Amino acid sequence: MGSHTQANGWHFVNSHGKTPMTAAKESNKPKASTLVITTEKTPIAQALQNHLIFSAFKTSEASTPRDWYVATGYTIRDHVVERWVKTAEAYNAQDPKRVYYLSLEFLLGRMLQNAALNLGIEGEVAEGLKTLGHKLEDVVELENDAALGNGGLGRLAACFLDSMASMDIPGTGYGIRYEYGMFRQSISQGQQVENPDNWLRYGNIWEFQRPESQYPVRFYGRVVEFPTAKGMEYHWVDAESVLAIAYDMPVPGYDTETVNTLRLWSAKAAREFDLAHFNEGNYEKAVEERNAYENISKVLYPNDTSVLGKELRLKQQYFFVSASIQDILRRFLAKHDDWSVLPDKVAIQLNDTHPAIAVAELMYQLVDVHHLDWDKAWKISEKVFAYTNHTLMPEALETWSVEMFGRLLPRHLGIIYRINHEFLQMVNHKFPGDTDLLRRVSIIDEEHGRRVRMAHLAVIGSHTVNGVAALHSELLKSTLFADFNRIFPGRFINITNGITPRRWLNQCNPGLTKLLESVIGKDFHHDLYKLRALEPLADDADFRKAFHAVKLANKERLAKRIEQVTGVRLNPAALFDVQIKRIHEYKRQLLNVLHIVTLYNRIRSGHVKDITPRAVIFGGKAAPGYWMAKLIIRLINDVASIVNEDPAVGDKLKVVFYPNYEVSAAELLFPGSDLSEQISTAGTEASGTGNMKMALNGALTIGTLDGANVEIREEVGEDNIFIFGLTTQQVAELKANHYNPWDYYHGNPELKQALDMITNGFFSVDEPDRYRAIGEALLQNGDQYLLLADYASYIDTQDAVGQLYRDKDEWNRRAILNVARIGKFSSDRTIGEYVEKVWHVKPVQH
Ligand SMILES: *Cc1c(COP(=O)(O)O)cnc(C)c1O
Repeated sequence: MGSHTQANGWHFVNSHGKTPMTAAKESNKPKASTLVITTEKTPIAQALQNHLIFSAFKTSEASTPRDWYVATGYTIRDHVVERWVKTAEAYNAQDPKRVYYLSLEFLLGRMLQNAALNLGIEGEVAEGLKTLGHKLEDVVELENDAALGNGGLGRLAACFLDSMASMDIPGTGYGIRYEYGMFRQSISQGQQVENPDNWLRYGNIWEFQRPESQYPVRFYGRVVEFPTAKGMEYHWVDAESVLAIAYDMPVPGYDTETVNTLRLWSAKAAREFDLAHFNEGNYEKAVEERNAYENISKVLYPNDTSVLGKELRLKQQYFFVSASIQDILRRFLAKHDDWSVLPDKVAIQLNDTHPAIAVAELMYQLVDVHHLDWDKAWKISEKVFAYTNHTLMPEALETWSVEMFGRLLPRHLGIIYRINHEFLQMVNHKFPGDTDLLRRVSIIDEEHGRRVRMAHLAVIGSHTVNGVAALHSELLKSTLFADFNRIFPGRFINITNGITPRRWLNQCNPGLTKLLESVIGKDFHHDLYKLRALEPLADDADFRKAFHAVKLANKERLAKRIEQVTGVRLNPAALFDVQIKRIHEYKRQLLNVLHIVTLYNRIRSGHVKDITPRAVIFGGKAAPGYWMAKLIIRLINDVASIVNEDPAVGDKLKVVFYPNYEVSAAELLFPGSDLSEQISTAGTEASGTGNMKMALNGALTIGTLDGANVEIREEVGEDNIFIFGLTTQQVAELKANHYNPWDYYHGNPELKQALDMITNGFFSVDEPDRYRAIGEALLQNGDQYLLLADYASYIDTQDAVGQLYRDKDEWNRRAILNVARIGKFSSDRTIGEYVEKVWHVKPVQH
């Protein structure tokens, strides 16, 4: 295995002292040559060797790389657990107000390196492994990503957990322990293939089952009404029940003792199997019911920004919400008996509408289970919840058919009717006679076959509703929630998203981190605004050189991996032009493809003089049912194989589709990017967070005035970002004035040529019609996302990008200014705003 076998024996003392097994093992210990640790070993090296034996059950000789992953993970975990227990004790003793972040997705990625880094032992662990003949970088690669999310929304939840722990905020995440997370994407003959993500197959050392924390969650049945002296009582009877079992994952803060908890629920059937069927020998039937229940936490729905009205999805939502609310109330009741104190102890954040049913569940628990009167319960509930909206896209707004909802959760439908009734009465009082307003704001949509609008429930049930970037929050108030903004003035606020600099700078870009520390010290680790100190160095030629060298090394590392994975060899000196995010029409990967084809045509027609060598890199998954997104992936790969193999092109242009974009891939891609593609149609991307990760890692942005791009421009300065295209207002005006894509097509020969080649089969000679549908979407069907309208501006701006890249000094100067001025986009700043404006919680130290 490596030089660690040189160790000439063991000695079972580590930082935890002698284990009880020591004496027994020593009495019949194997050949001393393998089992003695020299006294020069660091405590971590000793712990690693002990865990190899006691946790991986291997001698060094027999050990596999995975055994070293296990030994390293357990070694780090011991340090985490110590602080975790103390944090729990402190919270329990001090009984602070806590925030509960309810999210159907947590896109955590890998844990090992992040835990070591946050605990401040990454260097020691790397050193310990080195003395044993191993490399931390290799060990890290053996961990599966925890991919319990689709994209930005789930990753945001993960960044927030990191920031809350790092800021000593008593915050708990609640979600689902999906047995299968986000599918793994492979590319076969240019097309996306989805493979199940069996991430738990070899166990998960970062989770702890908590059998003592389990709750029944009920479905179906019916409601019986009982008149009582105090009014009507409702009993939910004949329901089926499934158990929610808690699995806790530690969330270690950076440079603090705090370790918070992410509690994920797993579904377990109340009984193992049906003994009657089992005794009859019908084994399939005996486990059928059990499987049906346990399917609830089986798999993450892989749809980003679109919803299907699937019953299982609503079951998932209610399942994790009900278990979480029961858990929150149990914790509260252990210390309090006065319900009016609840809002002083509990803040619940709804990450999108996915957990919005929590509003009805809390009312159910307070009114039906704990017998509070309705009005009192509602006053309490309103002070507990806040809701974050993540999108304006109509296809992402969740509604459930009343029929299905009432069958699955009959009592909760009744509760929602009452919430709606009282709300509409209030609206009618405030705006008398405006029946159209009542129709528009009702929780029940009567026009599309009676559906429950979850966004309306979330807005009505929350004291605060926030958008995730300034532009998005303004659009919420002026469009989607304009009526609600009149009804609840002051309820709608903005809190611009952020990213955790621990993972998205320290962990993924150690080269840049060290360089920054060497010139401006370490203050920025605790306050990302401190990166401002870098500004003067943008004009320092030596620093620019060092900065450039770091970027080049990151590009070399990326190029090496890309060659391993795709076989395409990139020149690290080329401009690395990167678009990594979910594949969606609104994100306009197709516009990027149109640019590539345009460049290709220029090269083929001999206009090579002005062309800056580029490698255009894509990454991202398409929802399995999203046919057009999958077609776009195929087109990218078809264009790549033509362009990459054309001898006339050479190093001038390369195209790569990097498969299976996930958090661990992102950690490699962001540091190796020069150009950040953030080119959504203005008004469609709520915030974006990939844009922030890119700028923090020294890429320049080419982007529209959309989402957080607007604020990135404000921060870095308009000279240091490439903005193009229509504004939100211009998009609205153009659409109102009968936008005609044909005008742009006929008016721009380069555009016409590029689009014709795609639709006429230039890139799909074996099947010329393959991309006909793309031409149809962009011409005949109205070009919903205005690619043609933005094409000319995009191409001109890309030309300017190419030009600037030739001026290394100027490029690096601007890239450095991006890093220096990106501090606002730390999720610590974001969490600080939630704390102050929404949650009103205080840090707890121990
Ligand atoms: C940051 C991130 C996203 C979000 O990217 P956008 O460009 O904001 O859409 C999605 N997936 C992963 C793995 C990420 O790290």
